[in-house]
Order: sequence, then C-alpha cells, then structure tokens
Amino acid sequence: MKRIPFLILGSGPTGLGAAHRLQELGRTDWLLLEAAPEPGGLAASFVDPQGFTWDIGGHVQFSHYEYFDRAMIEFLGADGWLHHQRESWVWIRDRFVPYPFQNNIRRLPPEDLDRCLQGLVEITRTPRPTPANFGEWIDAMFGPGLAEVFLRPYNAKVWAFPPEMMNTSWVGERVAVTDLGRVLHNLAFEKDDLSWGPNHTFQFPKRGGTGAIWKACASRLPADRLQFNTRVQRIDMAQREVTTADGRKFHYDSLISTLSLRHLIQFTGQHALQPAADRGLLYSSSHIFGLGLRGQPPPELATKCWMYFPESNCPFYRVTVFSNYSPHNVPDISQHWSLMAEVSESVHRPVNRAGLLEEVIQGALNTRLICSREEIVSTWVYRAEHGYPTPGLHRDPCLAEILPVFEREGIWSRGRFGAWKYEVSNQDHSFMQGVEIVERLVHGRPEITVPDPNHANSGKHPWPFHRWQTQTGNSP
Ligand SMILES: Cc1cc2nc3c(=O)[nH]c(=O)nc-3n(C[C@H](O)[C@H](O)[C@H](O)COP(=O)(O)OP(=O)(O)OC[C@H]3O[C@@H](n4cnc5c(N)ncnc54)[C@H](O)[C@@H]3O)c2cc1C
Repeated sequence: MKRIPFLILGSGPTGLGAAHRLQELGRTDWLLLEAAPEPGGLAASFVDPQGFTWDIGGHVQFSHYEYFDRAMIEFLGADGWLHHQRESWVWIRDRFVPYPFQNNIRRLPPEDLDRCLQGLVEITRTPRPTPANFGEWIDAMFGPGLAEVFLRPYNAKVWAFPPEMMNTSWVGERVAVTDLGRVLHNLAFEKDDLSWGPNHTFQFPKRGGTGAIWKACASRLPADRLQFNTRVQRIDMAQREVTTADGRKFHYDSLISTLSLRHLIQFTGQHALQPAADRGLLYSSSHIFGLGLRGQPPPELATKCWMYFPESNCPFYRVTVFSNYSPHNVPDISQHWSLMAEVSESVHRPVNRAGLLEEVIQGALNTRLICSREEIVSTWVYRAEHGYPTPGLHRDPCLAEILPVFEREGIWSRGRFGAWKYEVSNQDHSFMQGVEIVERLVHGRPEITVPDPNHANSGKHPWPFHRWQTQTGNSP
C-alpha cells in the first residue's frame, strides 16, 4: 500500500495548523483523519435546539504569533471579528471585585482586606525559600491572607487537583503576581485596577462562536484530504500503519498526532510508557453548562466578559456572559442573553454528574447571576473528558521519557493533549504547534512552542521566527 508522507490525526487547531501549513507550502501529500463529524476539537461550537450558540467553555482569542494573526484574518476576514475590552471579575463575599483580585482588595470587607494586607506585609518581611510546588508558590507570592481568601479556593476549583501536586512552570503570564506598592496605591486612591496580562483586549468571531474559525480554516482545505467520522483505533509503529474503527488502514511516513498522549500510548501498545503516563500526565475533565435566558442581562452584568467564583455556594469556577461576546450567540439579542458556566472534575475532585446541571442553576441563583428559574429558556450540557492538561510535578521528566519514544518512530505528538503543556495549549499555541512541526519536518527548522514555552509566551513573534533567521538564514 502507498505511504502517505504526512498523516495528521485530529482536526482541532493543531491538526488544522499542520494541514494549513502543508497546503500553503504547496504540498498535496497529506491526509487528515478526524473522529468527529466536524472540525474544531475543543475549540468547536454548537447551536442548541433553541438557537443559542455555545463554545466548550469561554474561549478568548488572543495571540503570541503574527502568523496566527494573519491566519485569523484570512479565515474570517477583517470584519468577521468583534473586539472586546476584557472585563473579568471575581464574585466573592456577595460582591464583585475586579480581576486581578490582589490589586483590588480594597473592595473586600475590612476583616478580609486586613488579612490580605497582613499577609502581603509578612512576605515582604520574611521572604520564603524557592517554592517547590504551586501551593508553596501561592503562599510565597501572595501571603497567607490572599491565599486563603482567594487563591487556594479558586485554584482548587479550576484545577481540581491539590496545588501541592502541581508545578510552577506555567504560571508566568497566567497568574498576576502581587505588587504591594500598586495594591497600596489603589487602596489610597480608591482605584479599580483592571488591565493586566496578555489578554486585556481580545477578539471573538462575529458569528458562529469560536468554532467558526476552525470551520472556515477547514473549508479552505481540499475536502478529499479531510476524512471526518474516522476514528483511529490502533497504530502499528513498526509497520507505520494506522487502523480506524471501520477497519481501514493508512500507511504513513510521518504521523502528526493531536490525540491525547494517553490514547497514543494505548493505541500503539507502548505499555512500558504507562507508568510514566500515570505519574506525569494528569488531567481534569471539563463540564460546560449553557443557560439560555430570556430578557436582558442585569445592569451589573451588561459589560462583563467573565467572572471567577472561588466560593462553595456554586460548583462553577468561571462563568462567561456569552451573549456579550457576540449578539449572534443568542437567537434574538433584543429578547435573550446567555451565560456559560465551567465546572472541573478529576479523581481528586469528583462531581455528581447527574445532578450537576441542577447545582449549576442553584449556584447561578445563589451568586445572583439570575433572579429566577423562569428566566431560563434553554440549557446545554457538554462534558470533555480531556479538558485541562494539569501541569503536574512530574510532567516534564515524564514527557522527556515518552515523546522521544514516538519521535524515533516518526510520530510527532503535538497539541493541547498531544504535548500536554498547559502553558502552550491555547488556540494560538496549538495552531502554531501544528505549523511548527510541519516546518521542522519539511524545512528542518526548529520548533519554538513545545520545546520553549517561556520563549513562546515572551511576546509577539514575527513571521518567520527570529530564531530561524539567526539559526538558518532562511525565510519561508
Ligand atoms: C474549558 C476550556 C476553555 C478553553 N479556553 C480557551 C481560551 O479562552 N482561549 C484559547 O485560545 N483556547 C482555549 N481553550 C483551548 C482550546 O480549545 C485548545 O487550544 C484547542 O482546542 C486544542 O487544540 P488541539 O488541536 O491540540 O486539540 P483538540 O481540540 O482536542 O483536537 C483534537 C482532535 O482529535 C480528535 N480525535 C480524538 N481522538 C481521536 C481518534 N481516536 N481518532 C481520530 N480523531 C480523534 C478530536 O475529535 C479532536 O477534534 C480552552 C479549552 C477548554 C477545554
């Protein structure tokens, strides 16, 4: 049987990034296999029977790569986007506090404010040793007050793992650290401090939710090279042969797999890697709940993007006012609005799956997101078994053991759960992981995103990457 030079598994942003780049380079020798009927993976969108559009959790579009920016305009057009100022808040002690929480603690009741400030003073007086895990990092960077009031309860909900089981390599641009001077300045001048981090503005597709991006990307590729409803079941590394659930066989030279690395180990029968996978490849599942609502959002939600919920009066850690992202996310913006809630589950934080929707609705009432059940005209529920690739303490040594076993045999495992690096697992990173592995295989150019996440997240990368120019002198 003829070999396919580039066989891609999965049509999420990573697989589509690889296909897009191959096509752009004029290659016609690739094929993509996807289990689902449509492209997008975790970045897909869905329309419920009542006409509300939903993402798999609040997807915020921002980018570290010029190449990605150009691709977004190419896929949806410059006018296919809505641009938003990030407005994220924390609901705590029956009030909203702007994010980053630590810069806005002036909004807390006096006893909590005092605890947080005392803790901040404590860490400046007695610096702690280098943290060995995320839990110690929280205590060292924020002090015991902020840790107890917000950081620890919130992170327990979002990660569903004890922070002592997590490493700190991912926190760089994702968690705002504390500047005591700024905290005191905001306190003295009674100032809200809202802009921090890489996503203080973001863009969102005008129509069709986040999934519209990936449908548009796929529609630009030759249809006969994208095989949907095609589930991979077995991979024979020696024969370089993929077998699908319907018994078809595909031979490859290079396999770009964007499936979960745990599944790759299973499908290839690499049982010797299982202990490393069990130690290092931790993950949590994501439950997404859409509440389609009649009427208009209350004034306090009218401009908010998303909100964090650290307290135990609701099961969700985050809720997005999804109708604020685009009016087309609801059937009729003059009559509807929508909320999307996220709940994490893991072996360390099990949930009652059957009763979770009811808990979410009760939580929305408890936190005053909605006033009455009568407002709800539609509910939508989605569970992603693989939702967050947990940055566990043993992750990096385990990845260093697992990935080379596959790479020696021409299998390149990339993407959110292919490379298992949370810090480079957003849409921009994932798409670029696909682009970069193609560049490596076709032109011999080194990848940057998977091997060097800190560099990938250090700013906006021009295209071609600076590193390629200094290392190879080539331009694409
Ligand atoms: C709750 C949540 C919130 C998020 N928020 C953001 C955000 O705000 N901003 C952002 O940029 N990103 C966000 N993301 C991340 C974004 O969804 C990912 O970056 C992206 O989807 C990962 O792309 P991927 O291609 O690596 O993997 P996936 O999207 O998981 O794609 C893998 C593909 O492989 C297919 N597949 C699996 N098994 C098989 C098989 N056996 N055979 C064939 N095909 C198979 C799947 O169907 C899927 O299409 C979020 C993700 C989640 C879960």
